[in-house]
Amino acid sequence: MGRERRNWTWFSKRRGRRLDCVAVESILEEIHPLPLQFYNTATRKIEVFKPAESGRVKMYHCGPTVYRRPHVGNYRAFLFADLLRRVLERRGLRVTQVMNLTDVGHFTQEDEDHGEDRMEMEARNRGLDPWQVAREITNMFEGDMKRLRAKPPEHRPRASDHIAEMLEIIELLLKRGAAYRSGPENANIYYEVSRFENYGGLSGNRVDALEAGARIDINPEKKHPADFALWKSDSKHIMKWKSRFGEHGFPGWHIECSAMARKYLGDTLDIHTGGEDLIFPHHECEIAQSEAATGKPFVNYWMHVKFLQVDGGKMSKSLGNVYSVDDVVARGFEPRHLRFLLQRAHYRTPLNFTWDSMRDAKGAIERLDAFVVDLKTLRPAAAAAVAVDEMLQKTRAAFDAALDDDMNAAEATAAVFGLLNNVRTAGGASLKLTKEQIELILAFLGEFDAIFDVLTPEELAPEERAEIDRLVAERQTARQNRDFARSDEIRTKLAARRVVVEDTKEGVRWRRV
Ligand code: AMP
Ligand code: ZN
Repeated sequence: MGRERRNWTWFSKRRGRRLDCVAVESILEEIHPLPLQFYNTATRKIEVFKPAESGRVKMYHCGPTVYRRPHVGNYRAFLFADLLRRVLERRGLRVTQVMNLTDVGHFTQEDEDHGEDRMEMEARNRGLDPWQVAREITNMFEGDMKRLRAKPPEHRPRASDHIAEMLEIIELLLKRGAAYRSGPENANIYYEVSRFENYGGLSGNRVDALEAGARIDINPEKKHPADFALWKSDSKHIMKWKSRFGEHGFPGWHIECSAMARKYLGDTLDIHTGGEDLIFPHHECEIAQSEAATGKPFVNYWMHVKFLQVDGGKMSKSLGNVYSVDDVVARGFEPRHLRFLLQRAHYRTPLNFTWDSMRDAKGAIERLDAFVVDLKTLRPAAAAAVAVDEMLQKTRAAFDAALDDDMNAAEATAAVFGLLNNVRTAGGASLKLTKEQIELILAFLGEFDAIFDVLTPEELAPEERAEIDRLVAERQTARQNRDFARSDEIRTKLAARRVVVEDTKEGVRWRRV
């Protein structure tokens, strides 16, 4: 994965050329190649990442539609955004992140003529008003993101707060002839895809092929079946706004992201992300709207996250496997275990969520926890027995190279576990490290954690404290009975929870490190 473009000799060929600015830049890149490379959905290639403004990155992520609690699949997409931000920051870049909240105009089907507004549908089913639903789900989403340790983006705008910005783009599109009015009283507005030359550039869909595949009962208001709504009028729609097009209008789904991206990041963004399902039509439509309105490129790098599967297939209500963060916690996992499961797989590879995979992620974190406990409680050796410096250098290089290579989190985390194994096995039966070596390893684990953020354990719940008390007491009994195998077993269990046991004058105590 991610080796498609690795040919730096191309730059060398430029050596003999006159030293104009471009050539100087190329030679500099040859000496210090810009490290980060991403797969760009738009070009279908791995490309060296170069922000438009040196040192700054403007990034937009399609956020949740706040009609039902986001599930583990959504969090694969959202936590990828967090990982990306942290990797960019590790590279010294200043990141401005926007993740929107969709609370209007997102239909249950891609084809909005036959679908139903998700917010309204949920509100009606629950006998609430859509604003209540939006508020409740937004709170849940924000709580989940916090528990999953996603850094809050600089902006988390709500679609319904940006109707004026959407109307501004719609007016521009009408003025430029990229959109047309249609339907009763000309109150519906559609984007005319055939007027946008690059329509289909992102997804590979072609306007003529879309026509051939269109449903028979197409909306007669549209000039072309692939045209999409920018603004709709419907007096029965609960969430509606007054505009010059009529009393009761509301936006189409795609326009919100063009409007909010423009407001918070300007006309051209460095990176735009979302799940792979959004490539078409959503992102294709965003490009068409934004570029036709501003005349500038909308996004330089498009990055899409492969869909998470559950139990080998699509999540569905009927299968009862649309899992939320709470469902995961109810099964005895911490949110950081889920974070690790979702982030450590390369974002473009398939990932199948099962309870076994959760146990596996938890086990991996427990190995890290136990390693940290050992490092923090080890009596330092006087002399070095292992060449830790060299190990750390290699691990850090492998860690960075993997992340630079299209965010290969699988390889980056494998490098860290490689270090753990090497340190554990290099010293023979027991760890033998100097104070300085221990500090160096802990410092590197800190660097790892600045990206993956899984090392700090969650606060213990009262029942977990009781369980630890019980284990500690059992360990004492085992020791009194000289059953050292059992007492070691319990020690390992406790270490995996970052718990160390100490003998004090007042008796046996435990604490977390
Ligand atoms: P929605 O709330 O449906 O608008 O989706 C919010 C985000 O989650 C979008 O970027 C989707 O592409 C993404 N998403 C939805 N389902 C999955 C999944 N199973 N795996 C990965 N991303 C998903
Ligand atoms: Zn969007």
